[in-house]
Amino acid sequence: MTPLAAALAARIAGSGPLTLAEFMADCLTHPVHGYYATRDPLGRRGDFTTAPEISQMFGELIGLWLAQVWLDRGSPAPFILAELGPGRGTLMADILRAIRIVPGMAAAARIHLVETSPNLRRIQGEILSGHEPVWHDRVADLPDGPLFLVANEFFDALPIRQFVRAAEGWAERQVGLADGRLVFGLAPPLPVAALDGRLADTRPGDVVELCPPLPAIAADIARRITAWGGAALVVDYGDWRSLGDTFQALRGHAFADPLAEPGLADLTAHVDFEALAAGFALGGGTPSRMTPQGTFLTRLGIAARADRLAASLTGEALAAHQAALRRLTHPDEMGNLFKAIGCRAPGSPDLPGLDP
Ligand code: SAH
Repeated sequence: MTPLAAALAARIAGSGPLTLAEFMADCLTHPVHGYYATRDPLGRRGDFTTAPEISQMFGELIGLWLAQVWLDRGSPAPFILAELGPGRGTLMADILRAIRIVPGMAAAARIHLVETSPNLRRIQGEILSGHEPVWHDRVADLPDGPLFLVANEFFDALPIRQFVRAAEGWAERQVGLADGRLVFGLAPPLPVAALDGRLADTRPGDVVELCPPLPAIAADIARRITAWGGAALVVDYGDWRSLGDTFQALRGHAFADPLAEPGLADLTAHVDFEALAAGFALGGGTPSRMTPQGTFLTRLGIAARADRLAASLTGEALAAHQAALRRLTHPDEMGNLFKAIGCRAPGSPDLPGLDP
């Protein structure tokens, strides 16, 4: 048993089964034994890789996206350049390099990072040294002011609850104990107000997921953008309207049993982009439509950028570069599974690359 498994078993023995969200939150962000607290999951010996780690092109294009969006909004200075869940800081470093081509932009940017892991904060501090980043535990702690915010693979790490549709109501998936081991179970079916709208488009046995912290985070981002200007870009894997079990554990780049070694595997769930759009609207913002990552990057000019970089490469480096382009954009790789969505203030210019 991992130390976290023992702690979870004691908690369940004392006060009953946990929701999946309670289990997931402890596994990922427990201050001592949590997955993100104890490791660098993105390192060479880590468990998964992400778009900014695959190629510098990803962050460069998002930097150019931010530059266009900042110019379109009258170049507010100073402004908050925020990232949620910055991982190893690679995306922000690539963004900061790309925006140097816009006079005054880098100097006006105040870097704010929302990150709970002390370990990853240290790694981010090293790669971003010289840019004086300021860290926060939560979006709610960001300072007031024009906000230009990006989040790649942040929302998929937020805890979810899972509900199995019953004839009437919903049975919540729980983590309980059997013979001293962690096991999945189902609570008795109950009505769930937040899922009333889903009774019409689901059938008994269907699984629907809710991410409890997501609406308030999205609404807070939108409220800030509407009050002070700016825009947000969220990229993640997921789809429009949750349907089906997407809860998964990854360890060493392979699927794992989420209950086997809590705290040692990365846990994620697909992001519900309908919930993101609804959260943005709740905060007074105007969400874009959900746009596949491949389409988004292609519209931003990834092919031309890839050609430019390819010109100075040969052999294995060239092959790796071409594989990275394919990985980011091809529909059979990340191009379709990953989606982008934006949020802007009502009446402000449309966001580049995203379907309005
Ligand atoms: N955006 C990066 C890393 C993605 S991994 C990339 O694309 O490479 C998820 C990141 O979110 C990590 O930095 C993790 O520590 C952070 N994170 C996870 N849950 C969080 C939470 N509840 N609050 C703040 N940060 C969180």
